[in-house]
Amino acid sequence: MSEFDYDLFVIGGGSGGVRAARIAAGHGAKVAIAEEYRYGGTCVIRGCVPKKLLVYASKFSEEFEDAAGFGWTTGDASFDWTKLIANKDREIDRLNQVYMTNLEKAGVEMFHTRAELRDAHSVKLLSEDRHVTARYILIATGAKANVDPGVPGVKHAITSNEAFHLDEFPKRVVIAGGGYIAVEFAGIFNGMGVETTQVYRRDMILRGFDQDLRESLTEEMTKKGVRIVTGQVFTDIAKGSDGLQVTLSGGEVLNADQVMFAIGRDPYTSGLGLENAGVELDGKGAVKVDAYSKTNVDHIYAVGDVTNRINLTPVAIREGHAFADTVFGNKPVAVDHSNVASAVFSQPEIGTVGLTEHQARERFENVVVFRSKFRPMKHTLSGRDERMLMKVIVDRQTDKVLGCHIMGPDAGEMAQLLGIAIKMGATKADFDATMAVHPTAAEELVTMREPVSG
Ligand code: NDP
Repeated sequence: MSEFDYDLFVIGGGSGGVRAARIAAGHGAKVAIAEEYRYGGTCVIRGCVPKKLLVYASKFSEEFEDAAGFGWTTGDASFDWTKLIANKDREIDRLNQVYMTNLEKAGVEMFHTRAELRDAHSVKLLSEDRHVTARYILIATGAKANVDPGVPGVKHAITSNEAFHLDEFPKRVVIAGGGYIAVEFAGIFNGMGVETTQVYRRDMILRGFDQDLRESLTEEMTKKGVRIVTGQVFTDIAKGSDGLQVTLSGGEVLNADQVMFAIGRDPYTSGLGLENAGVELDGKGAVKVDAYSKTNVDHIYAVGDVTNRINLTPVAIREGHAFADTVFGNKPVAVDHSNVASAVFSQPEIGTVGLTEHQARERFENVVVFRSKFRPMKHTLSGRDERMLMKVIVDRQTDKVLGCHIMGPDAGEMAQLLGIAIKMGATKADFDATMAVHPTAAEELVTMREPVSG
C-alpha cells in the first residue's frame, strides 16, 4: 500500500492540468484532478474556443458587403446575439463533456471542487470538506482576468469572462487595454455592429509585436470603424441616464452599454495554500519553476499560465505533457520555449513567429528585412480598402530567417506552418528555393527578393 492516496494530484482542469493528468495516468500513475469551475479551463470554456466562434460570427457583416462585388445581392441581414450565444454554449458544453470523458477513459479520478494545499503532500477538497494526500502535486490553476480596482465604479465593468454571456447585446462598448484580448474583442464587437472604442494607455496597441504589424493593424482596425484612443486610461465609470459613463484621463466622457477591462491576466495563485507547502512565487505572483516545471519543493510542479512563461494554450499543454513524461514516464523533457508561433484573432488577423525587427536588430549585427504590403486578391473585386502585410526578417551573416510577421486573412494558419520552417532553422535561400503556390497570399513569403532595409 502506498503511503499516499494518489501518485499525482492535479489542481486545475484546464489545458495543462488535463494533459498532465491523462499522460501521467497513461504511464501507470494513480491520478486525481480537481476543478472548481468547468473542465476545459479558460481556453475551452471562456477563452480561445468561444472567442474564435465569436470572431467567425462577427466577420459575416463584411462578407455580406464584399459579396456585392462578386455579383451577389443579399437581403437585409440581421444578427441574433442570443442565438449565437446559445449555439456557442452548446459547443462549449460538448467540449466540456469531451474533456471529462477523456479524463475518465484515462482512469483519472475527477473532483468538482476548489482544492487548496494544506501542507506539502495534502490537499483540501473544499466542497467535500475532506483532504487527500499525494506523492506529487501539480499546480495548473491558470490566470485570472484583471480589472483596475483603483477606478471608481469598477464594479460596473466586465472582463472577457462576462463578455461571453451578456444577456443583452450592447450598442456601444468601451474596452480598456491594447493586448490580445482588447484587440480581439474590439474586432468582435465592431464586426457585430457595435460602436466600439478601444482605450490604450500608451502610444500604440500590441506592445511587443513587430512595429509594422502594430501600425498596420491600427490603420486597418480604424478603417473598419474601431475608434482607438491612445495615451489614456479610465478614471471613472458611473451609471448615467444613458447607460454607463466612462471618463477618460484626457477628460472625455464616453457613453456605453458595456465597459470592458482587457488589461492582462495575473497568475491564479491567491488562496491556494501554496505558502503551507513552502512554494515560492515570483514578484508577479507566478509559481517559480525550473526547465522541468519543478517548483522549489521537490515533489510540487506547476505548468501553464500560473507559471507566467509563455501564456498560450499549446505551451501549457506541452508543459503538462513534459511534466508527466519527466516524473512518471522516466523520460525527462524540458520544454523548448523558443520560436513559439502565435496568432492574434484581431481583424485583420495576425500570425507571427520568431523575432520582431526590433529584437533582431538588438541581437544581430546585420539584419535584412523583406516586406510586402498589398491588397489581397479578394478585394480587387469586393472593392474593400484593406491591405495585407508580410514581413520576413533575416540574419545576413547566416541567412537564417529570424522572424516572420503577417497581418491579413488566415495569418494564423500561415504562422503555424512557418513555425515548422523556422524551428528547423530555415534560411532565406530555403524560402527562395521553395516553389510558390499560386494564386495565394502566402506565395509572397517565397517570392520577396528585394530587401527594404539592410
Ligand atoms: P496582454 O498582456 O496581452 O495585454 C494587456 C494590456 O493591458 C496591455 O496593452 C497593457 O498595456 C494594458 N494594461 C495593463 N495594465 C493596465 C492598466 N492598469 N491600465 C490600463 N491598461 C493596462 O493581456 P490580455 O488581457 O489581452 O491577455 C492576457 C493573455 O492571454 C495574453 O498575454 C496572452 O498570453 C493570452 N491570450 C492569447 C490569445 C491568443 O493567443 N490569440 C488570445 C487572448 C489571450 P502595456 O502594453 O502598457 O503593458
